[in-house]
Amino acid sequence: MAQLPQHAVYRGRFAPSPSGPLHFGSLVAALGSCLDARAAGGEWLLRMEDVDAPRSQPGAAQAILRDLEALGFAWDGEVAYQSRRGERYQAALDRLIGDGAAFPCACSRREVADSTLAQGGEPRYPGTCRDGLPPGREARAWRLRVDPGTVCFDDLLQGRICQNVAEAVGDFVVRRADGCFAYQLAVVVDDAEQGISHVVRGADLADSTPRQILLQRRLGLATPAYLHLPAAVNAAGEKLSKQTGAGPIAGMRPQRALAAALGFLGQPQPQGLEEARLDEIWRWAIAHWRREDIPRCRSAAAPDGF
Ligand code: GLU
Repeated sequence: MAQLPQHAVYRGRFAPSPSGPLHFGSLVAALGSCLDARAAGGEWLLRMEDVDAPRSQPGAAQAILRDLEALGFAWDGEVAYQSRRGERYQAALDRLIGDGAAFPCACSRREVADSTLAQGGEPRYPGTCRDGLPPGREARAWRLRVDPGTVCFDDLLQGRICQNVAEAVGDFVVRRADGCFAYQLAVVVDDAEQGISHVVRGADLADSTPRQILLQRRLGLATPAYLHLPAAVNAAGEKLSKQTGAGPIAGMRPQRALAAALGFLGQPQPQGLEEARLDEIWRWAIAHWRREDIPRCRSAAAPDGF
């Protein structure tokens, strides 16, 4: 992991999953997190979230780094790779198991989906293995034991967000049946270990934050500040992703892509910014970054051509 001085007040990060090249949605998260950090005089780290090996595309991490460089992004320290950090995630899981906070689960995805009322599209775990594995069944995954109650946090853009995790998702997976550590566990361990003070990311992840806060509490870790940016959606209202046909940023004029992302984030732009040099755009954008101008919504349409 990158070793950086501990005195920084603000340390942010961009944590893409390398499942494809950078698209407009990920550019918005990269730009918003970077500008919020730099405008505060803070550091900005990069972490490849390749913990989900089956979903990671060979070469995608390198492509994302190339795309970011072409756009003029500059990060602090070395890039962290989740695929190299399994021991850290296992140590956190061992601690949860030792504390009785995690339990083995034999249920298949199908069994969980079939046995519960799906809420918000996500199936809620019915607690089948909470008090022990059913006879004759073998452990497949590990889940966090979630107590009843509401978890709230004050999002720096969206305001107060609360979720009853027990009702919304129930005991959630921290290590999957295929052996991969779950995103929720990996992101919490990494944000803490990298000393991240501010998590700025797309609002499609806002529903994950209460789960991450529960894990932080169970692991005795500090909770960073959160700011969830509007997530870019396509004309059909689907979050931009490779699966929903989002086009790559590579190949576009970097100035045009940056200007479009700044516009999406509600930032004022002087006339002709698209014609400026990249370093001038960055200087301008950092100097004029205003959180209060970001649209206060969970999602917004990507501009035409993206
Ligand atoms: N890797 C996640 C994604 O690309 C983002 C995780 C995060 O920012 O917390 O959707």
